[in-house]
Amino acid sequence: RVAVVGAGVSGLAATKCCLDEGLEPTCFEQSQDIGGLWRYTEHIEAGRPSLYPSVISNTSKEMSAFSDFPFPEHFPVFLPNALLLDYLRRYAERFSLREHIRFGTTVVSICKCPDFATTGQWNVVTEAGGKQTSDVFDAVMVCSGNFSEPSLPLQCFPGIERFRGQYFHSRQYKHPDVFQGKRVLVVGMGNSGVDIAVEASRVAAKVTISTNRGAWLLSRVFEHGYPWDMILNTRFMSLIKNNLPGPLSWWLINYKVNRWFNHENYGLQPEKRWPVREPILNDDLPSYILTGRITIKPGVEEFKDNSVLFHNCPEEEPIDIVVFCTGYIISFPFLEESVVRVENKHASLYKYVFPTHLQKPTLAVLGLVKPLGAIMPVAEMQARWVSRVFKGLCQLPSQSVMEKEVNERKKNQVQWFGLTFDEVLKTEWLVYLDTLASFIGAKPSVLGLLCRDPWLALTIFFGPCSSYQYRLGGPGCWEGARQAILTQWDRVLKPTRTRVPAGSSSPF
Ligand code: NAP
Repeated sequence: RVAVVGAGVSGLAATKCCLDEGLEPTCFEQSQDIGGLWRYTEHIEAGRPSLYPSVISNTSKEMSAFSDFPFPEHFPVFLPNALLLDYLRRYAERFSLREHIRFGTTVVSICKCPDFATTGQWNVVTEAGGKQTSDVFDAVMVCSGNFSEPSLPLQCFPGIERFRGQYFHSRQYKHPDVFQGKRVLVVGMGNSGVDIAVEASRVAAKVTISTNRGAWLLSRVFEHGYPWDMILNTRFMSLIKNNLPGPLSWWLINYKVNRWFNHENYGLQPEKRWPVREPILNDDLPSYILTGRITIKPGVEEFKDNSVLFHNCPEEEPIDIVVFCTGYIISFPFLEESVVRVENKHASLYKYVFPTHLQKPTLAVLGLVKPLGAIMPVAEMQARWVSRVFKGLCQLPSQSVMEKEVNERKKNQVQWFGLTFDEVLKTEWLVYLDTLASFIGAKPSVLGLLCRDPWLALTIFFGPCSSYQYRLGGPGCWEGARQAILTQWDRVLKPTRTRVPAGSSSPF
């Protein structure tokens, strides 16, 4: 019996993978519906993520799909939030997941049972309709997400207490009308910051983005108009990136991202000369900077009554309204700190999933990773691995090996990039997927395929690393995987080639 906390992307994948392995999942969802982050509500609900209605996925549908469930071919290539939710509903329907979900049920606490050392069992206390219930489970998958608790570090902004304008966190943002005719400051250049600045600039008198570190900006419409992730996240590219000497690999990425526009000229060049910061996906920002609708400034030095002073800028900038797009805090209020401890937005988890110090590997955290690619296949791969560990079909290494892996990761990140903000959660998408896939025996062998099915092998190596690749063989293999890979570009072109009839397209 497995308790799954949350029915968002990770929770649905976890429930499905448990069923695939013959486990018995019970998924607890505090709200009345599935979808987690992707279920837009006009009202902000405590403990739940809150979207603004214009959010569109940053990763393309082919790269975001669960590995045995492609998106419908008529869906657009990048998905407005409502369609992503529609896809999740179809997924839940297709694999009959709803009957395993208890809606309106909040997980209050998860504690080790007294005989944990021998059974590995957990006592899960839940609350529904004001009544608490306690159940024992053999294992737990924590899929509660990490975008519910805003990080609003006001102590980092001297003078904010005397600022007379309005300010709020991006979690509170819904519609741009609040910015009508105002001078707006957006603090933080993550994806929320840029999205909100772009929307605000259509109605505001002036919009300024303040960024400490700058960022690489990518367009969803990448080289030759293809989706960025289908071009960048290929085995071929990954091989080059990971085997070129550091400076050359840096040069290659620098070259690729600066082909659209020179980041230095637009004030966006990332502070540290390493491309680790999550790239920002936005198609409008460069043209909005060019047309003067948005100005980029360094970090905030001080707030005054009605204005803001930026680092290295002598003039004060008059501001009426500030949106702090400063990200989110990771927390697991239902878990004891001794089970999962979060420090500097980093939990010491083996492969970002398993606590290293439990006597039994019966608790896993899903989705607590920020790969430079789609999160849905990652959460699903984690769930596939975890359910096999729970079932005893995959073994974890010894505690010391796991701790070494976690510490090495921390050390490297510190050495390279500094332990700031959310960087410790980042990892190379394809390498991570391959690593977990190799644990369960689902990593495709390109060389092996080259003899048996050369066309497929070449498509897998040079083409986008869509997750169907991880269903070609091994446990959970899916007979539709080969076809899904060979037709992935057809599904990309279908919703856009709407005037000239779409012929069959080459995977290259
Ligand atoms: P985020 O990516 O965590 O960015 C927060 C930014 O706030 C930081 O990068 C930093 O920006 C600034 N910041 C943080 N702490 C600060 C401090 N103490 N002082 C000053 N500045 C500070 O947050 P987010 O933009 O809300 O995004 C959260 C997640 O949702 C991300 O994974 C993002 O990709 C995702 N998202 C996706 C979409 C989409 O799919 N369309 C849309 C929105 C968000 P600077 O270094 O620039 O100062």
